[in-house]
Amino acid sequence: MPEFIPVIGKDEIQRQLSRTAKAISTDYKGRELVLIGVLKGAFLFLADLVRQINLENIKIDFIQASSYGADTISSEKIVLKKDIDIDIRGKDVLLVEDIVDTGLTLTHLIRHLQNFGPKSVKVCAMVDKSERRETAITVDYACVAVQEGFLVGYGLDYAEDYRNLPEIYHLKL
Ligand code: 5GP
Repeated sequence: MPEFIPVIGKDEIQRQLSRTAKAISTDYKGRELVLIGVLKGAFLFLADLVRQINLENIKIDFIQASSYGADTISSEKIVLKKDIDIDIRGKDVLLVEDIVDTGLTLTHLIRHLQNFGPKSVKVCAMVDKSERRETAITVDYACVAVQEGFLVGYGLDYAEDYRNLPEIYHLKL
C-alpha cells in the first residue's frame, strides 16, 4: 500500500500563496503581466495564485512539456506538447511551475520562451525542491521549499492520480 506523509497543509499553502501573490503584485505594479502555467501540475496553483494577484493587466496562457509519466524519476528528455497562444513579444512573463526538481524542464521552457522576444521571463514555483538541482536556475518566487521526496497532491500527480488532493504529501511506494 502506498504511504502518504503530509508535507504541506492547506493553511500553509494558502499562507505562502498570499505572500507570493503580494510580492508579485508589488514587483509588477503598473505593468502588464503574462502568467504562463506549466500543465498539468500547475493548474490548481495558478488558479489560486492569480485570484490573489492585485494587478489590472494580467493575461494567462499555458504550456506543456513532457512529464514523468508513471515514473518518479526525472527525465532529461523534454518534449514540448503544447505551446503558448498569446504573443509575448515585449511582454513581462512569469512562468508558473508546480515543482522545480532538477531544473531541466524550466531551463528548456525558458530558452523556448526567449525565442518569442519577451521583455522579461521570471519563474514562480509552488515547490522548490533543491536536492537534485542540475542547472543554475533562479526560482524568483518560491512558495515553499523542500529538500527531497516525491510529492503528490494540490496538482501534483503520480501516474495522473492524486492531483485533486487539497494538501501536499510525500508519496512512499
Ligand atoms: P525537473 O525538470 O525540474 O526535474 O522536473 C520538473 C517536473 O517534474 C515538474 O514539473 C513535475 O511535473 C515533475 N516532478 C518533479 N518532482 C516531482 C515530484 O516530487 N512530484 C511530482 N508529482 N512531480 C514531480
